[in-house]
Amino acid sequence: MSSLDEILKKINEANNIVILTHENPDGDAVGTSLALYMALKNMDKDVELIIPKHSRVFDCMPGIENLQEEGKREEYELAISVDCAAINQLNGWSKYFENAKYRIVIDHHSSNAMFGDLNYVDMSSPACSQVMYVLFRYYNWEITPDIGTCLMGGIITDTGGFQYSGVSQETFEIASELLRKGVNISKLYKVLLATNTRTSFELRKIALDRMEFLENGKIAYTYITKKDEKKVNAETGDYEGLVNEGRNIEGVEVSIFLHETDKGYKASLRSNNYVNVSDVCLMFGGGGHLRAAGVTMEGTPKQIKEKLVKEVKRQLV
Ligand code: 5GP
Ligand code: MN
Repeated sequence: MSSLDEILKKINEANNIVILTHENPDGDAVGTSLALYMALKNMDKDVELIIPKHSRVFDCMPGIENLQEEGKREEYELAISVDCAAINQLNGWSKYFENAKYRIVIDHHSSNAMFGDLNYVDMSSPACSQVMYVLFRYYNWEITPDIGTCLMGGIITDTGGFQYSGVSQETFEIASELLRKGVNISKLYKVLLATNTRTSFELRKIALDRMEFLENGKIAYTYITKKDEKKVNAETGDYEGLVNEGRNIEGVEVSIFLHETDKGYKASLRSNNYVNVSDVCLMFGGGGHLRAAGVTMEGTPKQIKEKLVKEVKRQLV
């Protein structure tokens, strides 16, 4: 892994910098990239953050008004990708990464393809925002209340409110430090985790109604089509978190949730105790973490379900 000193050297040398993250960004992707954006702004860098589409749930994050749909340049001196495991997840804006003179990857996915010139990937971290906090601390960059709010937003969304297995003592120490810096965790939690939009609630009803239990109730499966989304006037990100519905049911080890995209179906997998869903998704060209992974596949929901179930079954006991 590259050192934090090497990364700082490249940041110091670059005048113009572009920050990128994965498509369908979650709170961690948005929080990490905004925190980095604000730090680089504070260093008087000419910095751009490209996130073409995001759920309006993240409008509560400070600095969100700075997001751009497209880059102003063809070529940047430095590109930094955060919270993204593979270059194909940078989707249509991977060109900014590829064309940059120098490339840095900062992430926490165990399946990270190390696609930068420098890669700082801490797989033990439950959120990329936690990795970013470590950079701030090492570099002695100021954590303003706004920056702290973005980092905390990333941590609470990627850990499901401090509940997932990657949460450690350090996560709470960082949270405590961020509270000391003026972050209002209760307000953030309410907006990011405890509020559903009306349309996401309508989508949830459809997905729940369709849920199937396979392999003696060890696998929960459901899906959402474009037609469903149209029917309820769904907005970007409304299906977010739906995969957890299946995982939270007693006896379920793996939850599979599909939603239709322009490229087929995006599958989200979650496991509870022992199935390595990252390995399952890697089989089909995706990836992620041990207990949370994803992949885009072609075919009908039924065909995709059968392929995924066949792989999951190998690991079920
Ligand atoms: P989600 O199901 O929430 O979209 O993704 C779960 C985890 O798997 C995330 O950490 C995400 O980055 C990763 N992931 C989702 N889809 C893909 C994919 O197509 N390729 C790779 N490499 N990782 C993915
Ligand atoms: Mn993340």
